[in-house]
Amino acid sequence: MPEQPSFPLAPGSTIGIMGGGQLGRMTALAAAPLGYRCHIFTPEINSPAEMVSAAVTVADYSDIEALESFADDVDVVTFEFENVPFECVQALAERVAVRPGWDCLRISQDRLVEKDFINGLGIPTTPYRAVRNADELAIVVEEFGRPAVLKTTRLGYDGKGQVVIGTDTDLNAAWDTIASAAGGDAAILEAFVDLAMEISVVVARGDDNNWAAFPPVENRHVNHILDVTRAPARLPDKTSDAAVRAASAIADEMNLIGLLAVEMFLTVDEGTGGLGPNSDLLVNEIAPRPHNSGHWTMDACISSQFDQFVRAVAGLPLGSATPHHDAIMKNLIGDDVDKWRDVIRNPDEVLHLYGKTETRPGRKMGHVNRLFPLGQLPNK
Ligand code: AMP
Repeated sequence: MPEQPSFPLAPGSTIGIMGGGQLGRMTALAAAPLGYRCHIFTPEINSPAEMVSAAVTVADYSDIEALESFADDVDVVTFEFENVPFECVQALAERVAVRPGWDCLRISQDRLVEKDFINGLGIPTTPYRAVRNADELAIVVEEFGRPAVLKTTRLGYDGKGQVVIGTDTDLNAAWDTIASAAGGDAAILEAFVDLAMEISVVVARGDDNNWAAFPPVENRHVNHILDVTRAPARLPDKTSDAAVRAASAIADEMNLIGLLAVEMFLTVDEGTGGLGPNSDLLVNEIAPRPHNSGHWTMDACISSQFDQFVRAVAGLPLGSATPHHDAIMKNLIGDDVDKWRDVIRNPDEVLHLYGKTETRPGRKMGHVNRLFPLGQLPNK
């Protein structure tokens, strides 16, 4: 059994973060004012998180020896991404407290496990079925009708590992595409729902079982990548409350210590042709870590998602998730980052760059938070 550090962690303690991307970087930046050191474990040299952290281990996630010496240097381990192999978490958990625990990661690593779990709580998702071969695909497509979306159960992100089954899509070809991406795992077929709005809720949950959710936000994607988050979302109070209730119920049921992002769909109400009283709220997917749609909180809330994450993982009481501004978060993707000179001139905009040296199309290079007094977001 790992030696239990005494929580809350005292200033000067070290938080180990698995993953060296921008989420790790912004977590490390939030840990600093609380007096913590961060030690990053990543296979990447010169990672965004390493640049702002006290220590780094550059090694493969399967390098058990490196994991063990990393574990011995830190007081708690957390993750900036959920796709960590079990063996890696196990090697860590034998030596040090791991927050959130393996079960939270396991559930969110697999779309089927995730959707079974969420439906088991009485929270609806899009209709879905497991699909193991082209014949099963044909049967489920017949049942759901077209369009539908075929997805890998694991390792999909930003629209990768997905094929939309349209009127003319050849099912054998669609299956071959997903089967090769899935590497032998099952796939999942989801009915395609008509979306009136995509929203998300980020909720923090501490080791005292208290939780605090940020208000639901509206997300717009371009090429399957988050482009803009509008905070708060334009929702009736009833819908907003239901979204927060769903997110906090999932976090409670997972016994999560850390942060959970829950992406949800609001379906088109046929009566209004958009959002309306008959719109359904469906959970799409969850991530037990900071989330891109929570970046607005860095400048618009008393405690940001990263502050809350660090507090939860370190066993501190959660801070206040209350916004003091409304905000529009715009991702800087690929060449967008060249606009930094314009952004920095605007006193209502806050620039966050991730320190990535190489710009590539589709790569998240930074984001901008544009702030508005509460209730004064432009309606577009
Ligand atoms: P995902 O990887 O599941 O987050 O999907 C990426 C994006 O594809 C979502 O944000 C939606 O815009 C769209 N999408 C995914 N699944 C569905 C679905 N079942 N019905 C309609 N749109 C979907």
